[in-house]
Amino acid sequence: MKRFKSLTAVVLAGFFAVSAVGCGGSSAEETTDETAVEEDADTEAEAEESDETAALTGTEGLLIWGTNAAFEPYEYMEGDVVVGIDAEIADAIAEKLGLTAQVENMDFDAIIPSVTTGKVDIGLAGMTVNEERLNNVNFSEPYVEAGQAIIVPEGSDITSVADLEGKIIGVQRGTTGDEYVSTEENGVGAASVERFSNGPDAAQSLLTGKIDAIVLDDEPSKKIVANSTGLVILDELLTSEQYAIAVAKDNTALLDGINAALAEMEESGELQEILDKYLNSDEDAAEE
Ligand code: GLN
Repeated sequence: MKRFKSLTAVVLAGFFAVSAVGCGGSSAEETTDETAVEEDADTEAEAEESDETAALTGTEGLLIWGTNAAFEPYEYMEGDVVVGIDAEIADAIAEKLGLTAQVENMDFDAIIPSVTTGKVDIGLAGMTVNEERLNNVNFSEPYVEAGQAIIVPEGSDITSVADLEGKIIGVQRGTTGDEYVSTEENGVGAASVERFSNGPDAAQSLLTGKIDAIVLDDEPSKKIVANSTGLVILDELLTSEQYAIAVAKDNTALLDGINAALAEMEESGELQEILDKYLNSDEDAAEE
């Protein structure tokens, strides 16, 4: 809970800074406080009226969430069903909004385009908030803190980020891990970068010696290592990231609804319960 709270505070501070800039240049000086309050009340009443007529999502009654279900523990397949942290969050938010969650499984790099074109209502995929994505979508309040980790075969000579220089590195296409390894600023000096559809595919390649290391989000990395033999995760985290839910820029009513639902889930402890269910079990087991 602590982790989430401090994160929320940081990001909220960021959002307020942004909105303060956005409000610059309005005619605030000409308006008395009283008038401002009245105007706000009017706007709210109007918003409520239009909410009653306008559907919150593309398909009435449904909250369609786009994801890439090869990202355990956030989203993964159990038989035919997509389960995980994000699946439970999708269900909980949908319920609070009077909707039913329905998943669309796709490649990770198809999720934002699907949100912007309305193929799905939201992107919920362990997705990191970053500037490039903010150009195309809005993000909810963050719900988790994460970072990029390094996976190597047991006995590898790679023991830190510095050792990635000159190596063949696997990433998931279009992710922040891909960006970290590939861009000139952060570039780790890789000999080459191999892009895979998902982490487990990259792990197969690592196990057969085609690549030297994988850079991937921390919790999914832990799951990959736990689910295979002969791979280890290094202690060092390369980035500090926040996951949030992507919503089309023109659907601010849905964004508000999602943020209200998330706040409720944080307040009630429901969010933390979901996170604990999937995130802490391995560590607890290891400690025993
Ligand atoms: N957090 C990473 C990103 O947003 C990876 C997400 C994922 O692969 N599902 O790019």
